[in-house]
Amino acid sequence: ATPTSIMVGTGRAAQMGVLFRRGDALQSLGDIQTVAFDKTGTLTQGRPELTDLTVTEGFTQRDVLRLVASVEATSEHPVADAIVRHAQHDGLTLAAVENFRSITGYGVSAVVEGQQILVGADRLMLREGIALDGVRDAGTLLGQAGKTPLYAAIDGQLAAVIAVSDPVKAGSAQAIAALHGLGLKVAMITGDNQATAEAIGSQLGIDVIVAEVLPEGKVTAMQQLQAGGRKVAFVGDGINDAPALAHADVGVAIGTGTDVAIEAADVVLMSGDLGGVVNAFHVSRRTMRNIR
Ligand code: ADP
Ligand code: MG
Repeated sequence: ATPTSIMVGTGRAAQMGVLFRRGDALQSLGDIQTVAFDKTGTLTQGRPELTDLTVTEGFTQRDVLRLVASVEATSEHPVADAIVRHAQHDGLTLAAVENFRSITGYGVSAVVEGQQILVGADRLMLREGIALDGVRDAGTLLGQAGKTPLYAAIDGQLAAVIAVSDPVKAGSAQAIAALHGLGLKVAMITGDNQATAEAIGSQLGIDVIVAEVLPEGKVTAMQQLQAGGRKVAFVGDGINDAPALAHADVGVAIGTGTDVAIEAADVVLMSGDLGGVVNAFHVSRRTMRNIR
């Protein structure tokens, strides 16, 4: 590519709200075969709502929500925010917490009013030896509905099954269809539950789903997509997406995401609209055609 055609291309992209931080990314996009997306905040709105809270025998909904929200008030995860907002909406007064611990990719724990509280994914309960026997089906059903099932335990006993729902962005399905139209394969990499990821993936027409990935596993998941020399673009917004953005053949960050993600990316979308990813490919193809 000539410097001039690259300049024209990046200028045209900028007018569409697609910023190329590296000019050669315009060229690299031409070799991409797979576009892998982070789920939360990238394909979805990233602002989940609490939709379900079912307590087990001996616990009351109000008390479990109050204890769980007290713990989550210290966490910065979007799921935590959904739980705290719901408790506030219900007019609950949160209690002080001690020994707060965040286990990345699993959930959180703390002591509230002398009780040991755990909130998180099924793998947190597994790790802490909390039996989920009676609620496995409930969790699967919530996942199949595209919701994220979470579990709460109090003093070693399962107290509730909770679900949060994070709707997909308005333009996600259309963007994926357009990428398919360009002959690209589309993947999703997420820390979320397998059933939830599959439900959202099929809603959006995603070809490859990699779920229940720990934050440090996102790079490995992407490297697997790159196996055999396939060229992969990764699109993400979060702090934990930065390593995958850096390892991708082309890293695309959502401009509304975290600074760490933007710093690691080759291309930045000014808005959260995934149509920007499609536009980036269009401009790349146009630029490369002009110079060949
Ligand atoms: P993602 O952002 O893709 O959901 P994470 O690695 O941040 O991936 O989290 C993986 C899973 O761990 C979440 O889907 C959720 O089930 C659980 N989790 C993480 N943080 C919390 C939290 N603060 N409270 C409850 N569950 C959590
Ligand atoms: Mg995200």
